Amino acid sequence: MSTNATNKAMVRPVCRNCGSSEIVRDASARWDVTAQDWSLTGVYDCTFCDNCNGEGDSLAEWIEAESTSPANVHRDHA
Ligand SMILES: [Zn+2]
Repeated sequence: MSTNATNKAMVRPVCRNCGSSEIVRDASARWDVTAQDWSLTGVYDCTFCDNCNGEGDSLAEWIEAESTSPANVHRDHA
């Protein structure tokens, strides 16, 4: 399975351990005086799961975002 630019399917990360989509990542933010808001300066590689408390660089498994509905069920309009 590849996620090339030719494939425009949207993806989302799910936890490799428990399948949850409660995936979070550490990032660093710096105060932007002009914007009067925090601005992201970097996102770290390590991924965490809020559901099972797992962590690791390869914890996230990327799946198609459309797979919230069953992919192999072909639904013609009823
Ligand atoms: Zn998990």
